[in-house]
Amino acid sequence: MSAVASAAKPLDLAAIRAQFPILQEKVRGKRLAYLDNAATTQKPEAMLRAIDYYYRHQNANVHRAVHELAERATTAYEGARDRIAAFIKASREEIVFTRGTTESINLVARSFLQPRLQPGDEVLVTGMEHHSDIVPWQLAGAKTVAAPVLDDGSLDLDAWKKLLGPRTKLVAVAQVSNSLGTINPVADIIREAHARGIPVLVDGAQGIAHLPVDVKALDVDFYAFSAHKLYGPTGFGALYAKRAHLEAMPPWQGGGDMIRTVAFSGSTWNEVPYKFEAGTPDMAGAIGCAAAIDWLDDIGLDAVAAHEHALLEYGTRRLAEVPGLRIIGTAPHKAGILSFVMDKAHPQDIGSVLDMEGVAIRTGHHCTMPLMERFQVPATARASLAVYNGEDDIDQLLAALQKVARLFA
Ligand code: PLP
Repeated sequence: MSAVASAAKPLDLAAIRAQFPILQEKVRGKRLAYLDNAATTQKPEAMLRAIDYYYRHQNANVHRAVHELAERATTAYEGARDRIAAFIKASREEIVFTRGTTESINLVARSFLQPRLQPGDEVLVTGMEHHSDIVPWQLAGAKTVAAPVLDDGSLDLDAWKKLLGPRTKLVAVAQVSNSLGTINPVADIIREAHARGIPVLVDGAQGIAHLPVDVKALDVDFYAFSAHKLYGPTGFGALYAKRAHLEAMPPWQGGGDMIRTVAFSGSTWNEVPYKFEAGTPDMAGAIGCAAAIDWLDDIGLDAVAAHEHALLEYGTRRLAEVPGLRIIGTAPHKAGILSFVMDKAHPQDIGSVLDMEGVAIRTGHHCTMPLMERFQVPATARASLAVYNGEDDIDQLLAALQKVARLFA
């Protein structure tokens, strides 16, 4: 039971698991050990019920009608904005609803960065960024400069500092690396960048469900995340941005709801954050996300982080037992991600054998091609943890990996 003990509040793993219907599924006739949580998390009953309730009792288009259902929908939808804002200690006007991390970053690239760019201007990223935190800056016309990653998967902070220069228009960094699990020193990064007047975007895709976030204490300019990695629905996410930035940024998509007035001679924009939310939004997505947050907050992120950390330590120890296995990413500050390669088996083969044993992991470049090149591997196998995982999942992973080692000896 060591993995479920935490300084904050011990987790009742059985009770938590009972809230995830999908965990009862048998896969390939075996017990499911779901260890692909960095790709997407499974969904608790409370979140499924919130979406079901919305469509059964509240569904109507928001903001634009006087009838009772529209009122219910709008109240639930805007209530979700309050809940999401409170979760990261933001004000509701600073929360723009998007389709997820990727769209949130594209919004910043198009609406904040692009109008400020001069030829040769740079966005300073890190060598461990997800493609979503590289390509949007390039599409906007910026040069992406990447700070190096050390052999253990930590960011080389000294080198990062030296790359901050007069051409740096924005700093963008993952809170947690999806491929390595490294927790980046985002507070230090923000402080250093701000000392030079450079704004910072934190890609919170892998942080939001695992570490408490306080955007005000961090003083971060932009924070992006997806609901589906937070026990919420797919296709929904948010961008936090400082209000002053949002006020100064032009809209990036046109349509209903984002306007104040429309005339053929020209149009004017709605107030923030609606200026950035064109068209009928994903009401159920927002409501589901808020329900997932309620559910997670009830457990408490400190307890979640402690549980996942203990499990990460257990998994790291157990993986060392597998012949020919090498973990990629051993930074001292890590979240629950175990990326590895094996001497004789390709990650694809590892994934296939594990699947036959009921173990769901991800294999590939994890949308971090430059990082794979840095570690000179074509791909890794990645087991990623969530609050419902326990030592039994790691043990099942271990047994399957021992089988891989035997098959590819
Ligand atoms: N950034 C990181 C670090 C990620 O891990 C991911 C998804 O895996 C993304 C961005 C993109 O998230 P989404 O596909 O939900 O937009």
